[in-house]
Amino acid sequence: MNFSSKILEDAVDALASLPGIGRKTALRLALHLVQDNTNKAQRISAALTRLNTDIRKCRVCNNISDHDTCNICSSTSRKSGVLCIVENARDVMAIEDTNQFSGRYHVLGGVISPLDGVGPGDLSIDQLMNRIQNESISELIMAISPTIEGETTIYYISKLLKDSDIKISVIARGVAFGGDLEYADELTLGRSIASRIPYSVQS
Ligand SMILES: [Zn+2]
Repeated sequence: MNFSSKILEDAVDALASLPGIGRKTALRLALHLVQDNTNKAQRISAALTRLNTDIRKCRVCNNISDHDTCNICSSTSRKSGVLCIVENARDVMAIEDTNQFSGRYHVLGGVISPLDGVGPGDLSIDQLMNRIQNESISELIMAISPTIEGETTIYYISKLLKDSDIKISVIARGVAFGGDLEYADELTLGRSIASRIPYSVQS
C-alpha cells in the first residue's frame, strides 16, 4: 500500500496488529476515523487503554474483573461449594449466557501444553487447590475443551484430588463444540453442563 500519510500508515499498522484484522479492513477503519468528527478515535483509544490500566484478575477465581474480587465471586446469590473449571474468561461468558450454572468459576488461564511450554505451574492450579481447602468445595465441573491438552489438564487436576471426597465431572462430550466453548450455542452448552458426566482417575 502506498500511503500519502505516515500517520495514517501508523494507524493502519496498529489496527492490523489485532487478530482477525487484515490491512484492507485496517485501512477502512482508519479512514472511517479520519472522516469522523465526533472524537470517536479518542473515545476508542481511551476505552482500549483502560483494558491495560484498569482491568485486573479476580483475586479469587482469576477471571478478568474491574475490582479485586469479581461480581460472580462476591455475589451472595451464587451456589457455594460448586466450581466450574474453565480455561479462560471467554468460557465464563459462554457458560453465564446459558443460565444453567449457578455456582462459581475458576479460570485456569490456559491448559497444560508441554509443546507450547505451558506447565501446571503456569496455570492457576495452586490457587485452585487453596480454594478447595478454604471454601469447602464439594464438586468441580470441568468445562475444558476435549483436546489432548484439555484432557491432560483434567487428568492432572483430578489426580491431585484423587484422595479427596470432591466430586469431579466433565461436561458432556456428545456435543460438537469444535474445541472452543464459545462456539457452542447456548442451548447445547447449557445441556452439556446439565448432563455432565462423573470423572475419575484410575490409580
Ligand atoms: Zn472471581
